[in-house]
Amino acid sequence: MKLRLTGYCLALVTLLGCQRPGSTEDSTRDVAVREGFPIEKADSVHMNILARTDTVDEPGELEKSLQDAGLVNVQDIIPEALVELKYSTTDNFFGKDVYGDLTDAYLQPEVADKLKKAYELLQQNYPELTLLIYDGVRPRRVQQILWDNLDKPDSIKPLYVADPKKGSLHNYGVAVDLTLAEKATGQTVDMGTTYDYFGYPAYPDREDQMLREGKILQAHVANREKLRQVMNGAGFTGIGSEWWHFNAFTLKEAAAKYGIVE
Ligand SMILES: [Zn+2]
Repeated sequence: MKLRLTGYCLALVTLLGCQRPGSTEDSTRDVAVREGFPIEKADSVHMNILARTDTVDEPGELEKSLQDAGLVNVQDIIPEALVELKYSTTDNFFGKDVYGDLTDAYLQPEVADKLKKAYELLQQNYPELTLLIYDGVRPRRVQQILWDNLDKPDSIKPLYVADPKKGSLHNYGVAVDLTLAEKATGQTVDMGTTYDYFGYPAYPDREDQMLREGKILQAHVANREKLRQVMNGAGFTGIGSEWWHFNAFTLKEAAAKYGIVE
């Protein structure tokens, strides 16, 4: 498929010296929270770098299966949206690239349309900003890889990763992880924590407490409010423990409308 301005070609480069959009934010707390977490050193010095290109890229096996399942590429619906699939890099809580050559975000068509509405609301209110998508559909086989490789007792694994047997809204292609970014530079807006930060500072329902304790600032909450304003306005619902996660449907609705993307 043709990659647009915000599309990126896959190139194998050495790990050292790589820079990606959004990678400039302070990761001190992120490192702290990862202590004790089973992040292994990458056994390869290769990783995916996101480099702009206009070249044609044939979809890989995973991407093809998403297309066959009727899912749509978000950037086909919202060309101005930025996409940086964290699970297609080693910059995620897992420390591994589990998406391989899939670098585009896919969602159910109805969900992508809702997201377009969110983008339009963003343009009406904050025209200097755009949406930066970290994750869309997460096929169950990828969820299984995360689950199997998480070095925690099964009883507490659901705190980190949804049980693939039950399925999560990402598995149905009706949930999206995203943030806001400056259109001009691609720089992410500061939400107070990184994506996939485990802990109360990332919890929308702990914001008052975190403000009192000085763990996040009012400016971070104001930025999250901008994201919530446009996502809620477009019909998405947030969750209490992740500022970046939004659902277009409930699990019951998703199960009735769609099958799990395997
Ligand atoms: Zn999510």
